[in-house]
Amino acid sequence: MQRPKIDNLPLNPLEPGLDLLAIGAHPDDIELSCGGILAKSAKLGHSTGVLDLTRGEKGTRGNKEIRQKECDEAAKILNLKIRLNMEWPDASIHDTEKNRKELAYVIRILRPKLVITHHWNCRHPDHIGASKVVERTCMLSGLKKYLNEDEQAPPEWRPDRVLFFGGWHNKHPSAIVDITEYFNQKLKAVFAHKSQFFNEDSPDPETLLSDPKFESWMHQRSRYWGQKIGKEYAEPITCKGEIPLNDPVETFLNAPW
Ligand SMILES: [Zn+2]
Repeated sequence: MQRPKIDNLPLNPLEPGLDLLAIGAHPDDIELSCGGILAKSAKLGHSTGVLDLTRGEKGTRGNKEIRQKECDEAAKILNLKIRLNMEWPDASIHDTEKNRKELAYVIRILRPKLVITHHWNCRHPDHIGASKVVERTCMLSGLKKYLNEDEQAPPEWRPDRVLFFGGWHNKHPSAIVDITEYFNQKLKAVFAHKSQFFNEDSPDPETLLSDPKFESWMHQRSRYWGQKIGKEYAEPITCKGEIPLNDPVETFLNAPW
């Protein structure tokens, strides 16, 4: 086991660690799925970060260099404390021993209290692979003797909980987060990935994301979840296990349906 070769990976574990780390398969997955949650969490004073697993180099539009610049721009818009890329090959994210060990190393450096990643019931196989490898690694990285073949490995760290955003086929999230005040910030972060979206001068082939209707679909999707909690825009979160309520009366007074 060697230290993963990742640009800007801190030498020592962050102190304090991150409050929330979002892990996505491809650059822009995070902005599209939980950009509002990240913007809101940063505004509420929580430290946030993003770990992209691949550079999206198999994507139809853009290239590795362009996409890195776009990720940096989106990170500033979302006020992230850190954004890193695992440099795993695109279109090949699997729950393997090698990937688990590399990811555990990075989780131990970033020390997130919470991790949010892809829902397991997804359309893209990389998203399904990411969901599996992230959930499993969050448990394994908390084992004291995991990675102990490397004397330099950072000490064990286990996030308190793994949360799951979106999910193409997921109709029943555990909670819905009001992002009305942060929706414009989310849009800006999404469209920082300029190479992926509509541009009549682009020579690249059309994709689902580059369809001129895509912005209106983003509004529809966020409004769909917003309507369910009486707000304008929202994003869903799923978790395994129950969610404790501090004040059930207050909670259901605010969400009476
Ligand atoms: Zn993706």
